[in-house]
Amino acid sequence: SHTIANVDPELWGAITNENTRQQQHIELIASENYCSPAVMEAQGTQLTNKYAEGYPGKRYYGGCEFVDVVEQLAIDRVKALFGAEAANVQPNSGSQANQGVFFAVLKPGDTIMGMSLAEGGHLTHGMALNMSGKWFNVVSYGLNDKEEIDYEELERLAHETKPKLIIAGASAYALRIDFERISKVAKAVGAYFMVDMAHYAGLIAAGEYPNPVPYADFVTSTTHKSLRGPRGGIILMKAEHEKKINSAIFPGIQGGPLMHVIAGKAVAFKEALAPAFREYQQQVVKNADVLAKTLIERGLRIVSGRTESHVMLVDLRAKNITGKEAEAILGSAHMTCNKNAIPNDPEKPFVTSGIRLGSPALTTRGFKQAETITIAHLIADVLDNPYDAATIERVKVEVKKLTDAFPVYG
Ligand code: PLP
Repeated sequence: SHTIANVDPELWGAITNENTRQQQHIELIASENYCSPAVMEAQGTQLTNKYAEGYPGKRYYGGCEFVDVVEQLAIDRVKALFGAEAANVQPNSGSQANQGVFFAVLKPGDTIMGMSLAEGGHLTHGMALNMSGKWFNVVSYGLNDKEEIDYEELERLAHETKPKLIIAGASAYALRIDFERISKVAKAVGAYFMVDMAHYAGLIAAGEYPNPVPYADFVTSTTHKSLRGPRGGIILMKAEHEKKINSAIFPGIQGGPLMHVIAGKAVAFKEALAPAFREYQQQVVKNADVLAKTLIERGLRIVSGRTESHVMLVDLRAKNITGKEAEAILGSAHMTCNKNAIPNDPEKPFVTSGIRLGSPALTTRGFKQAETITIAHLIADVLDNPYDAATIERVKVEVKKLTDAFPVYG
């Protein structure tokens, strides 16, 4: 038959190994999740065959009458989900959603402001090696001595440097961001205001984190993190910006849209509009909270002292272990996370003194507070005895019990 297993056994081996890894490891990477079988099914359909340059009703190819329905469903649902005036569902990734906004409103050499990567921002918000850092004059803001966003410094810098665009949003910031406050700064200095809500999108859809849509000109996101859809991006915007953004994505920076992925987005948005999604996100926040509190009880420091979302940064210095070592050793005990710089990190970016942990994936497989507290203790047990083979072995057995009891895909 024409299954992958028959057509390409070598590839199928890697896929089945990855499926087993996802089932047998506890996923703590804050930007990952397990999308539903329906979202995956959409991406495996014949929609992958179709060219559809343009937008619904205005295509540069024939035969688009059914993909138009697909894309319009995705647009209408994501607008309803976040209360947006307009939406573009074509960005192939979060990075391309951000590039689309930049291409729409900026020219090389313009000044932009974003949160520094070292203090929680994303690469695409002005990191030196990223296009955003190479093509624009970047002014970065960061955290104050309480490890909260330094809004006063942000305001001072904005007035001093008059950026054309201010970006809010982060990849490693645990607290609520005051989008309204930053929008007022943007307005006062005549800057566009863009929020990259990639990390928080699922929580926002469920009312568990502040919604930036009323305050921002543009809201970009990935669809595959807390939102639990397929890998991809979106841009939400005020109606006045729709034309400009649509032409920045196509023909500006992309060609034919990935219609099978857009179908996956439509499914995910429908799932996110259902009441069960709200319960899921409430559990995501509860699980992150007990994870942070239990790690604090076990002698670890959480950056900013707490989490108000799905994500947290753990300062490992009390345990005399680097982020790089912790990531590897937790991995050997079947708990997956990523090393991450903490504010003012004394270690190099490839080593770091921290790890970033998140609760979206573990909550999707059904873990509630009791299991999450157990997981926090297992993490601390490993970090207390990182080079003790017996500890790693015991933790691996405990992880297996948990993952067997909570299968990812039934
Ligand atoms: N924006 C933020 C805040 C992110 O955390 C990420 C992903 O890590 C992105 C954008 C980029 O998304 P992608 O990996 O889909 O390009």
